[in-house]
Amino acid sequence: MSTPKTRQEWQERASTLDFNGQAFINGQFCPAVSGETFASISPLDGKILTEVASCDQADADLAVIAARQSFESGGWSQLAPAKRKKVLLRFAELILENREELALLETLDMGKPISHALKGDVPATARAISWTAEAIDKIYDELAPTPANQIGMVTREPIGVVAAIVPWNFPLIMAAWKLAPALATGNSVILKPSEKSPLSAIRLAALAQQAGIPDGVFNVLPGYGHTVGKALALHQDVDCLVFTGSTGVAKQLMIYAGESNMKRVWLEAGGKSPNIVFADAPDLDRAATEAASAIAFNQGEVCTAGSRLLVEASIKDEFVLRVAKALKAWQPGHPLDPQTTCGAIVDQQQLERVISYIEAGVQEGATLAEGGSQVLQESGGYFVQPTLFDNVTNQMKIAAEEIFGPVLSVIPFDTAEEAIAIANDSIYGLAAAVWTADINKAHKTAKALRAGSVWINHYDGGDMTAPFGGFKQSGNGRDKSLHAFDKYTELKATWIELS
Ligand code: NAD
Repeated sequence: MSTPKTRQEWQERASTLDFNGQAFINGQFCPAVSGETFASISPLDGKILTEVASCDQADADLAVIAARQSFESGGWSQLAPAKRKKVLLRFAELILENREELALLETLDMGKPISHALKGDVPATARAISWTAEAIDKIYDELAPTPANQIGMVTREPIGVVAAIVPWNFPLIMAAWKLAPALATGNSVILKPSEKSPLSAIRLAALAQQAGIPDGVFNVLPGYGHTVGKALALHQDVDCLVFTGSTGVAKQLMIYAGESNMKRVWLEAGGKSPNIVFADAPDLDRAATEAASAIAFNQGEVCTAGSRLLVEASIKDEFVLRVAKALKAWQPGHPLDPQTTCGAIVDQQQLERVISYIEAGVQEGATLAEGGSQVLQESGGYFVQPTLFDNVTNQMKIAAEEIFGPVLSVIPFDTAEEAIAIANDSIYGLAAAVWTADINKAHKTAKALRAGSVWINHYDGGDMTAPFGGFKQSGNGRDKSLHAFDKYTELKATWIELS
């Protein structure tokens, strides 16, 4: 079958999909123990795609038992790294072989444009798995410097049962950033996808099994955060909890860990990232184009969205015009149309949240320079125009709080010191960008920014080779790169006396 090329062809392909909404525990697809389900609603038209198992404590218990048994059996955890690598590489291949189905599930479930899901999310998911798999049989443990009659071994061991709770904005990629290092290092994993986007994770389970991942090593529990998510976070037999999502839930997970077994908790949380444009930026057109994509890509539902645009006052008015023009390339369209750049907001609740922030911006006295309205209501789906506010202060709600939608706040500044102070005046510290032709200013500003990723003269760079995560209330630990392995392993010191 060739890749669909038009909206109609994608719709025809979508009509052939067989949605699976079941949990996956110990190698079996199954309903929730309670028999409860919830409706998976497509943000494209507000219609029900399928019913999904609504897992809770009982399912969490079953999945943890399966994960624990598979871990203890050693069938995966004790396997030679090269053998785990082979299975994971097959898993990555299968993801690519099923790219159109996975892309469709992603688009139908959470509203992103099909061309982005197909060319971005699915290959990035496969790459996260294959890159990590390739690394796992090339990492050595350590020997401590000792006198001749001693041997000090410093080794890494898998931590055991890992629960991964992920969000809906990049369902496959966020899952892969956790699954890949967790599985590569030999752990058994329970994945809890967001209740807003569970379908691609359930499909991943079938592909993992097809690739040869043993029963119990990879389980998927769809359901709500306050039910199955909480049950996993409070579980006495989960060793490690990895999370991507909001800062509010991240804080709650730390409490759950403290109230239960002190499981390791690794958090990738929210952001309110500053994108700083100095008057001497080398290419102001590119800076404006990327300022627009930094807020409109994925409907602004990106943890690293460049949601605060700090512009040197001398070029601010002219630059705002350029950004407003660039945003016109991001008008919402039908997500199954391959030409669409900006899709649907994930659900009615998130749409209302975005609109309430737009209203707050107007009420607080910011200048609405572009967009600001809900559109395409006739579709039954949830669409909002990318929105630009000028004359924002950093204290306004739209500049201080994470909106997680396509709403950009422009804040002027006069000096580098002032730009840095505004940029760092946030509870978050996930990412930041700096645009300047002055190498000294670029480096000095980058060093002063309290953020896990800093981009110079572009927005949102990096790949699997670079760690990703946040300072401050954007989280702890890092996904991607070899640093990700730190989350999923315990260090053991074995000291031997030779006689
Ligand atoms: P969310 O925090 O509402 O939900 C994330 C996950 O946590 C979901 O699976 C949800 O069901 C679960 N959950 C909710 N309450 C829970 C509870 N009490 N116990 C256990 N689990 C619970 O976030 P979201 O709306 O899905 O995603 C948006 C957020 O994710 C934004 O804040 C965004 O910045 C953040 N995010 C961060 C990164 C990053 O890498 N830093 C990447 C993507 C998204």
